[in-house]
Amino acid sequence: QAKAAGRNTQRFFDPEMQAAVNARSNLEADLRQGLARSELLVHYQPVVDHQGKLVGAEALARWRHPQRGMISPAEFIPLAEQTGLILPLGQAVLRSACTQLHLWAQHEATAHLTLSVNVSARQFRQPGFVAQVLDTLRECQARPHKLKLELTESMLLGDIEDAVQRMEQLKKQGVGFALDDFGTGYSSLSYLKRLPLDQVKIDQSFVRDVLSDPNDAAIVRTILALAKSLDLQVVAEGVETAGQLGFLRLHGCDGFQGYLFGRPVPVHEMDAHIYPAL
Ligand code: C2E
Ligand code: MG
Ligand code: MG
Ligand code: MG
Repeated sequence: QAKAAGRNTQRFFDPEMQAAVNARSNLEADLRQGLARSELLVHYQPVVDHQGKLVGAEALARWRHPQRGMISPAEFIPLAEQTGLILPLGQAVLRSACTQLHLWAQHEATAHLTLSVNVSARQFRQPGFVAQVLDTLRECQARPHKLKLELTESMLLGDIEDAVQRMEQLKKQGVGFALDDFGTGYSSLSYLKRLPLDQVKIDQSFVRDVLSDPNDAAIVRTILALAKSLDLQVVAEGVETAGQLGFLRLHGCDGFQGYLFGRPVPVHEMDAHIYPAL
């Protein structure tokens, strides 16, 4: 007993582990402060159709840390989810996207553009989620059918009836839904049929080697065929080369997002790039 406790004590004071714990709680404190100090921003990545025409963008959170510079969402989104900070963060991203939709609606050249916003499990499951989205749209004077919410498969597991109900309430007002990172989660086909989705997004991990890996090619073709038969629009993520684009277009993909068309950038850069006249 004493021996075990001794070992535990020793492990607890393991300097490496302690350093990791410190780093994490520092980052958490920094994130809390960063949210209050508006260090979080939103970049936009273009989405184009099969003709290469801009149809919209995805809003992606960025954190400009005062000491560490830009921190990737891969690092701070999981932390934000664990700590609950994803709620104010997600709300800030949604507000920023709705504000942008309102601005785009003022110009003929941009009025057709849609915006996709990532929603985390915790955000989606919070009791006031539906009302919060609708309130934000109204406050920003943004049109609901220009907004798409991106969900992932894992967050829809569990109480699917509840998820469907939330989605239906928003869909009734015109809000669209996309299933993000499609193919990486536990997708059951019957499941896919029950969800009121408008779009699926093919994960970039399948797009990367689509020309060299026959398995990835088969998966991508299968997703495209499946989506067609369920009447879902498909957007491919991580499109970096003309070859990948060619394959995806050949097999009927509707939308494309990736470095080939543009990296995520502050919105004024996207506007300037696509519409130099604006
Ligand atoms: P995601 O929603 O699947 O977003 C696509 C990711 O792929 C973005 O990474 C984007 O920068 C990256 N990407 C786009 N085109 C290419 C390409 O051609 N090549 C490569 N290698 N990568 C490409 P990012 O911005 O680092 O975001 C990572 C993830 O963090 C997102 O994946 C999303 O799951 C999450 N995330 C970002 N912003 C938010 C947010 O506001 N709320 C929530 N809940 N999650 C967010
Ligand atoms: Mg996404
Ligand atoms: Mg994705
Ligand atoms: Mg992702």
